[in-house]
Amino acid sequence: MSAPAAGEGRLKLGCIADDFTGATDLANNLVRAGMRVVQTIGVPAGPLAAEVDAVVVALKSRTIAPADAVAQSLDALRWLQVQGARQIYFKYCSTFDSTAEGNIGPVTDALMDALGTDFTIATPAFPDNKRTVFKGYLFAGDVLLNESGMQNHPLTPMTDPNLVRVLQAQTRRKVGLIDHVAVARGAEAIGERIAQLRAEGVGIAIVDAVSNDDLLRLGPALAALPLVTAGSGVAIGLPGNFGIAPSPAASDLPPASGLRAVVSGSCSLATNRQVANFIATGRPAMALDPLRISQDEDVAAQVLAWAVPLLASGPVLVYSTADSEAVKSVQGRLGVEEAGAMVERTIAAIARGLVEAGVRQLVVAGGETSGACVQALGVTQLQIGMQIDPGVPWCHAKADAASQAGVHLALKSGNFGSEDFFTKAFGVLG
Ligand code: ADP
Repeated sequence: MSAPAAGEGRLKLGCIADDFTGATDLANNLVRAGMRVVQTIGVPAGPLAAEVDAVVVALKSRTIAPADAVAQSLDALRWLQVQGARQIYFKYCSTFDSTAEGNIGPVTDALMDALGTDFTIATPAFPDNKRTVFKGYLFAGDVLLNESGMQNHPLTPMTDPNLVRVLQAQTRRKVGLIDHVAVARGAEAIGERIAQLRAEGVGIAIVDAVSNDDLLRLGPALAALPLVTAGSGVAIGLPGNFGIAPSPAASDLPPASGLRAVVSGSCSLATNRQVANFIATGRPAMALDPLRISQDEDVAAQVLAWAVPLLASGPVLVYSTADSEAVKSVQGRLGVEEAGAMVERTIAAIARGLVEAGVRQLVVAGGETSGACVQALGVTQLQIGMQIDPGVPWCHAKADAASQAGVHLALKSGNFGSEDFFTKAFGVLG
């Protein structure tokens, strides 16, 4: 890899996301705002495979040790810089998920140091998803963050809704606030507030935003910042800074072809309804029994022997999706992690087998399940296409040794998607 000559860098926005489905969520917002976007799984070994406006590097760094999160994020930064990225966007969760040590603060500090910048913003506001920030306090729906259930999160319990305090505990820089009074007045007032905070020695400012209009007013005020840190909401206001407006062309993907299938390892409520809906249409569906998987090495091969002859007549569904009682019972017998990993491995092997059998349009339900399937398919870069439902776009992965031809993938995390998602998705692709 050699660095591009000055002015050659065509990549406008280089994004670093701290988890996989969060990366897709950001990519989806950028596409809707008119950018052509590729999401990479981890830091690519080589250069970009396609010419795009933005790249989102998906890491899995939200809850790992801060030093590892910093190292991985700096790796991603260096790669994005080599691709010529003009602005860097560090994306985290819209509920500001972090542990007492980070990783939002440490990663922001490291990126600021590496970019040689003394100021950035931080806001998880995502009004479309009912995440709003007011006077520095984060609301999820109608309640404060620490009353939203997030206070009980197993990995990142969020017990303080005041983001200035939360971030101040994680960074050596001074944290300040760009409050709604400035945001409501527009980009110029926000710019004045930034200058004032900078003069006071503030390095990172939480930004209030309660509506998309707030985010659109914020966008132009961020044009000159080398680094923006945020949830996916702020993305809607940035493409305009590069002269980009929403356009259907941004979501163009290669034409879809080949056979269709759905695999689901998500046990979320929405997915349970989607599985029931697909079965009710009379299409073929096969349930995976985790206990059988634990006793029988050949479950994937047996499922493929059932599924492959059916594919020519339309999509099939293979699912381990079950209600919470069934999941608890399996977890009680096999252990939570062991059950999860085993089911993920099996579904990933089935996804690979389906693609080898000619499936070129594959819907995957479940965040972790998606990660396992993408890995099994050898996918490292995804071009982001049209939205099926909020937060879930169709993606296209270029050919690799395993699949011979490109594959369209819809990677749906847990509670996303309407009840008829598993059939509707194929209609959207045309
Ligand atoms: P979601 O996005 O809904 O959280 P994930 O794929 O991220 O879905 O997580 C679901 C986890 O549950 C995965 O690790 C998966 O392997 C596991 N799992 C799926 N089905 C079952 C089941 N029937 N019993 C126990 N664990 C399961």
